[in-house]
Parts: sequence; C-alpha cells; structure tokens
Amino acid sequence: MRLAQVDGGKREIVGYLIDITEKKRFEEQLLHLAHYDSLTELPNRVLFYDRLTQVVAQAERNQWNAGVLFIDLDRFKAVNDTLGHGIGDELLRQVSARLNATVRSGDTVGRLGGDEFAVILGELHQPQDAGIVAQKIIRSFDEAFTLNGRDMFVTASIGIAAYPPDGLDPDTLIKNADTAMYRAKQLGRNNVQFYTPEMNNRAVERLELEMSLHRALQRDEFLLHYQPKVSTRNGKLVGMEALLRWARPGHGLVSPAEFIPILEETGFIVQVGEWVLRAACAQLKASISGGLRPVPIAVNLSARQLQSAGLVDMVRKIFDESGVDPALIELEITESSLMHNTDEAVVLLTALKNTGLRISIDDFGTGYSSLAYLKRFPVDTLKIDRTFVRDIAVDESDAAIARAIITMAHQLSLKVVAEGVETEEQLAFLVKNGCDEAQGFLFSRPVPADSLASLPKVYLVTA
Ligand code: C2E
Ligand code: MG
Ligand code: MG
Repeated sequence: MRLAQVDGGKREIVGYLIDITEKKRFEEQLLHLAHYDSLTELPNRVLFYDRLTQVVAQAERNQWNAGVLFIDLDRFKAVNDTLGHGIGDELLRQVSARLNATVRSGDTVGRLGGDEFAVILGELHQPQDAGIVAQKIIRSFDEAFTLNGRDMFVTASIGIAAYPPDGLDPDTLIKNADTAMYRAKQLGRNNVQFYTPEMNNRAVERLELEMSLHRALQRDEFLLHYQPKVSTRNGKLVGMEALLRWARPGHGLVSPAEFIPILEETGFIVQVGEWVLRAACAQLKASISGGLRPVPIAVNLSARQLQSAGLVDMVRKIFDESGVDPALIELEITESSLMHNTDEAVVLLTALKNTGLRISIDDFGTGYSSLAYLKRFPVDTLKIDRTFVRDIAVDESDAAIARAIITMAHQLSLKVVAEGVETEEQLAFLVKNGCDEAQGFLFSRPVPADSLASLPKVYLVTA
C-alpha cells in the first residue's frame, strides 16, 4: 500500500489486493511437514522436543512431576527384512494408532525415528505413575497386529525418565529414557525399566568395551589358552581345547564369558573367530617344528559364525595357507546353535566335514536335540555339558542323563567327552560308564601356549 500525491494537491490512497490463501496453505503444509512424521502423522522429533520443553516449564512452575517414555519395538528390523518395507511401514502406522489409543488425550506421542517412539506424560502425581502407563502400553501389544491379512505379534521395550528426579531439561530426560530403554532390551526385551544413574555408568562402560574390543584385534590383544583332554582308558593327553582370552590393557586377562556375547551381538565374532582358527593352526605348526607330537586342537565356533557366508571357504583357506593337516582340527559347535535350522545345518556341517576336520557338539544335553537330528549331523564327538557332570556322582538323575548320553553316543558311533571334571568321584563315574575322554580342572586348567611343552603326556586315571 502506498500514499500517492496526485495533481492539484489531492491525496489518494492506492492499494493492491493479493489473494494469499494459496501461500498461507503452502506455508501451513511446510510447517506441518517440519513438525509431523509423514508416515504416522505423529509429532516428529522437533515438535516432540518443543512440547517437552513446554511440559517441563509448566511442571517447573507448578511443581508437578512429568515423565518421558522411550519405546522401541523389539526385532523390528527382522519384520522389515523378512516381510518387506511396505509391511514394516504398515506396522509402524498401527503401532502409532495403538499408542495414541492407550495414552490420555493430553499426552504427546511422537516418533523419534525408525521404530523409536516416545510419549510425554504431563502432570503425574508421582514419578512411579509413568510405570503404570508403560505397563499399559506393553499390555496393549498383547493383541496381534494384522498385517497383510496375517496376525503378527510384536513386543516393545520401554525406558522411563521422570521429571524432576531423572532430569530437568528435555535433552537429559530423552537421553536417560533412552538409556533405560537400552537396559530393558538387555534384560530380554518386552519389559519396562526406570532410569537409574548406575545405568549411565553401565552404558558408558559397555560402549567403551565395544570400542576397545574393536581395536583388540589390530592391537594383537587376543590370545589362546589350551586345556588338555585326557583319555579315560589310559590317561594319555589326546587333545586340547583352545579357549580365547583378551589381554585388555588395564584389566588383565578378560574371560570369554564377558566379551564373547558382545562380539556375537556386534557380529565381530566372525573376524575374531577367524583369528582363533588361524592362531590354533599356527600353534600346531609351532609344536610340530619344535619336535612335539602334535595333539589335535579343538576350536569353538559361535552360532553367528555358522550363519556367516564364506565360513567353509575361510576354513579351507586357513588350512591351505598354514599347511596344517585338517584332521588335527576339531570344531566345537554348541548344540543349541545347530537346532535353529537343522536342514541348513546338515548341509553346512557336511561341507565343513569335507574339508577334512572333525566336528563335536559342545554343551550337549542343554539344547533339546532329538536323536533323529543327531543321526543326520555328520559329527564325531559329543561333549557332555558341565552342568550334568557337576553332580554326576551325587545326583541320580544327572547320573542317569550322563549314562544315557554315553550309551546313545556309542550307538551312533560317536566319541563322548565330559567337560568340567573336577573331582576323582566324577572321573571314577565316567570311567565306569565308558565315557571316552575327560576335560577339567582335575587334570589342568587352561594354560598359556608357552606352558604346553611342560604339560604331562600321561595323567593318572583310576576308576
Ligand atoms: P566351552 O567351550 O564349554 O569351554 C569350556 C569352559 O569350561 C572354559 O571356560 C573352561 O575354562 C571351563 N572349564 C574347563 N574345565 C572346567 C572345570 O573343571 N570346572 C569349571 N567350573 N570350568 C571348567 P572359558 O575359557 O571361560 O570359556 C567359556 C566359554 O566361552 C566356552 O565354553 C566357549 O563357549 C566360549 N569360548 C571360549 N573361547 C572361544 C572362542 O575362541 N570362540 C568362541 N566362539 N567361543 C569361545
Ligand atoms: Mg568348547
Ligand atoms: Mg562346553
């Protein structure tokens, strides 16, 4: 608009009228896009954060409690990978609807990305009330989601951070709810965890552990210890099991129980497992060139390695490169890792066996395998799990299980090894019942490579 001076000193106003409805609508659309997730129509991270800022300010003014729930679907990636992204998207939409239906209308449900959702609970009487809402959400997942005409069950893990005890600003609240959610996953998924300050320490420790494990291979921090296997007939040293150790700087020797699960989760076990086989072969070579009688070495293989492409090629390549006789290597595979997909396992084990190595089933008795499967697997040895061996001499049902395993194995022409043998009584039982070999602290703890030359060649075995 402008003021114009017209001839004769008369003033007139000249104005323009522009229709801005289109522009307004476009601006609103942009605003919507910037604040809402297009797939689920839920507030996105930006808007969620804004709302949380308001809720926190309000709670501060009124001295209220508030809560943030961080929700992550369990195994969503598997749904996406196996059923396709279309179905994955549909599941996310249905989950959004269900979350909205479960919380109060004043609460904000947002999608923070991927399969991560979050809820703001304003005006809580007490922080614990957030747990009630979280449980309601968990229960709402008891009902199946119908995807493409098929019923599917999905669970979620939820972490809770409350204002004011767990954080005074949106950043801290979201971060701590996320940490609690992560803990819920670790505890087996499909559960709810309240944030505690120790969780943060644990999360930091875990992250550090993961990072230092990644460097451990390059920095040559892994090593193998070896534990003898002894013949129950004549006490002779007949084999050794290679057991992984990690010389973590500042932490001493770390036990595999602490780091193998993490290697498996991150998939890094595939590279480390390759290193283990290569190191075991190098040890055999070194023993032979040092004039020692080579004793077969058993190497543990994790379930994750069985699923990795190129396992058989990797094994064959290491045999070729090292020049070690494959018959001197045995792979220990746990019973439970073979039971997932038995048809594939038969094919894989056969290919491994064809490289000339031997195969044993580790921790036998814990994986519920049936005799029918055992017959199909091309294996040489069964290792009776430590938990049965422990009470073999005192618990009649453990004794019966051990006897049954030995008899069954022999009927299938398999060798039987008992692991975790600690006492003379256990050994006497095993000798009497025809178990072929024994391994355990009674003979020797796992020892470092430089002690191998001084291991006895024969151990005392009496029934
Ligand atoms: P596992 O294969 O069943 O190995 C036997 C475990 O029993 C070893 O624990 C060994 O030290 C322990 N043990 C041996 N004799 C006795 C005994 O008389 N009493 C008791 N209480 N324990 C005994 P370790 O070395 O801590 O290894 C634990 C597990 O970690 C192994 O169980 C195996 O599943 C895994 N592991 C070790 N090294 C490797 C590896 O190179 N690759 C993979 N994938 N897993 C490995
Ligand atoms: Mg083993
Ligand atoms: Mg074992």
